[in-house]
Amino acid sequence: MLPVSLPFAGLVFTSQVPIMPHVCAMLSDEFFMREALYQAESAGCLGEVPVGAVVVRAGEIVGRGFNTPIGDQDPSAHAEIIALRDAGRTIGNYRLPDCELFVTLEPCAMCAGAILQARIARVVYGARDPKTGAHGSVLDLFAETRLNHQTSVIGGVLAAECGKLLQEFFAERRAQQREHQAEE
Ligand code: ZN
Repeated sequence: MLPVSLPFAGLVFTSQVPIMPHVCAMLSDEFFMREALYQAESAGCLGEVPVGAVVVRAGEIVGRGFNTPIGDQDPSAHAEIIALRDAGRTIGNYRLPDCELFVTLEPCAMCAGAILQARIARVVYGARDPKTGAHGSVLDLFAETRLNHQTSVIGGVLAAECGKLLQEFFAERRAQQREHQAEE
């Protein structure tokens, strides 16, 4: 087997050890999901629901974002929207056809709409969202073949880590609320 290149954040590592292509793709997905997790942690530190996203083109991060709806007083300030805006500015185009979006949580209907509008080629997400997920958990916008653009989607990449961050955040918030009520 020929040496395989792994594109990691603009750096190309060449391995002389044979690596199966699907292993390569999996490692690359996990690498960028970790970048999205760093973004999610930033949101959590600011008291926002910890969801993070990155947009990647040719193995390079071109957009980053995390949830800021409370701080920005903006219901549309989800991680995906912030990352798409950032990528659009970086690339200088409102369409991102050669890009992949990595996000720690299954996109909602609003973000799925923005992803399709941006012509994103591929979406990779971590944990499922049973309350607002638009990749099959509540509805599946990505399966709607009548729409003019189709984006391939895979879920479950580092799902346990992505989900744990959210569970811990909500557990802490509930504990704070109980403390606050006890003080009253
Ligand atoms: Zn969203």
